[in-house]
Amino acid sequence: MLQASFIIIAALTIMNLIVIGGRKLLVCENCKTEWTWKQTLKSSFVLTTSMTCPYCGEKQYATPKSKKRTFLLNMLILLPLLLQALFEMGVWTTFSLMIGFFILVMISMPFWMSVQNEETFKIM
Ligand SMILES: [Zn+2]
Repeated sequence: MLQASFIIIAALTIMNLIVIGGRKLLVCENCKTEWTWKQTLKSSFVLTTSMTCPYCGEKQYATPKSKKRTFLLNMLILLPLLLQALFEMGVWTTFSLMIGFFILVMISMPFWMSVQNEETFKIM
């Protein structure tokens, strides 16, 4: 069962790399500069909805689409808990899947984010 979880993670990682390979990183709407992966991930950890562009210093806000995507990505980390309940997986299998999903989500998060100059409060 533990081996199965490693196969799942490996398969997802490859799929993930193919998908994000064709995607651009976050681009500032104000100065149109592409942020680096590290900058985007760092900004996404800040709890406020605004992120300051490291190039022009303008505040950027996550688009509603971006908020929805990051929410779904975070849900993915909890998916193994659901699988555990459904398939009676072992604790270590669940744990390793969660760690694997967490790393995967962290890697791909900056590729699914997009920002705009104004804040939108409508989430859906
Ligand atoms: Zn900028």
